[in-house]
Amino acid sequence: MLIPPGIMVSRTMSSFSEWMLPTIEGMVGIFHSHPNSSSRPSAQDKRLFSQKGGINIIAGYPFELKNVSAYIGSGKEVPFKVVD
Ligand SMILES: [Zn+2]
Repeated sequence: MLIPPGIMVSRTMSSFSEWMLPTIEGMVGIFHSHPNSSSRPSAQDKRLFSQKGGINIIAGYPFELKNVSAYIGSGKEVPFKVVD
């Protein structure tokens, strides 16, 4: 797991510069959370997904499984399964 430097966080939002995300060989995707219950990607999320590819997981508050969604690079939601 990589936590990009320069993250800005407040009670209602968080953000980081996508320029701070390195290209890592073998990277399988990006996980991030939303401070509200939505696990739907924003327009910025979709743009990042298309640039980085892989599997992109978003967890919405309160971060229960029902508030977690996975998307591929095109922005299409895909099913996922949690395993031990
Ligand atoms: Zn987001």
